[in-house]
Amino acid sequence: MALWPVTFINGEGFLPCFWNFDQACLPFVRSGTFWGPFNESMPNATEHTRWIREEAQRLGFSYVGISRAEFMEEEARRLEAWLNKGMHGQMGYMANHFDKRTDPRKLAPGARSVISLMYNYYSEDGQQDPEAPRIAKYAYGKDYHFVLKHKLKSLLHFIEERIGQVHGRVFVDSAPVLERDWARRSGLGWMGKNTLLIHPRAGSYYFLAELICDLELAYDAPIKDYCGACRRCIDACPTEAISPEGYILDGSKCISYFTIELKEAIPEEYKGKFENWMFGCDICQEVCPWNRFSRPHSEPEFEPKPALLAKTRQEWEEITEEVFRELFRKSAVKRTKYEGLKRNIAFLKKGGHEHE
Ligand code: SF4
Ligand code: SF4
Repeated sequence: MALWPVTFINGEGFLPCFWNFDQACLPFVRSGTFWGPFNESMPNATEHTRWIREEAQRLGFSYVGISRAEFMEEEARRLEAWLNKGMHGQMGYMANHFDKRTDPRKLAPGARSVISLMYNYYSEDGQQDPEAPRIAKYAYGKDYHFVLKHKLKSLLHFIEERIGQVHGRVFVDSAPVLERDWARRSGLGWMGKNTLLIHPRAGSYYFLAELICDLELAYDAPIKDYCGACRRCIDACPTEAISPEGYILDGSKCISYFTIELKEAIPEEYKGKFENWMFGCDICQEVCPWNRFSRPHSEPEFEPKPALLAKTRQEWEEITEEVFRELFRKSAVKRTKYEGLKRNIAFLKKGGHEHE
């Protein structure tokens, strides 16, 4: 026998639908909460959490962490300072919806829990021509937005079916949600000096996604930072986008920003510094010792098209719009558009990569 909280409002008890009336006792209060008896098998936050974890794993998510939905005071201060320094460059959307970004209850009214999920995208495959302009691993396969959104919707549907009236919203890099911070709060890893989330047994080649809902769940706690004295990512970053002590990334200096987000010409001062990256950059993940724990994903949708890995430097330089469309039909690379990719490739040539 255990105790279960029963809330009374104006003398009317709101009993959970699974209440066993044989065990009910008479209310002694007209409003407030008292502890009533309940059967051990009664579903509760711990059990709901277990169901959600099991279903998330069945859907292919590697790790799940859960936090209480609340205002992110410390993160709000960090974000404000980062924005004030203009480190978001032309990513104006980062400055929008500050209130929603720092408080999930403003994004999903009534929210109680933020469920953070990690999905592996690490691939041991690589581009075959060592001189070919490089693409970040996350963009090898089908656009993760579609793949993960579909899985998140399935998870939400499962929760609604199994637990009942639950209101939730799902997010994959698609709304003002501080994904990495929620994952960190939920104990899925720590924020490395390269500002990525690092899982202590799996590294950082993971997509992050969230399900925010009005269900009370069992919450996880953050873990400690294991970067220690390491500073490999800081030293390896070719554009000095990571602050000298780490933990702050100047987005406006990052190769990912230049090759994907920037709409105009790439500043000449970065000529010769891109280390042959034409879409995104993986350098600060490649050098991170925690990524020795990376294991290949098993998601068929993330398998790269053989033609993508086989392209030579010359073929990339001569890519036509037709080939671009076919190769990246359902890919995240579409974000930079044909003209953007051509601009990036031309910039690499200017930087001297054609002679390497
Ligand atoms: S992604 Fe590349 S450019 Fe950006 S911080 Fe990491 S190493 Fe530097
Ligand atoms: S490379 Fe070193 S300092 Fe950078 S995130 Fe990894 S462990 Fe931390």
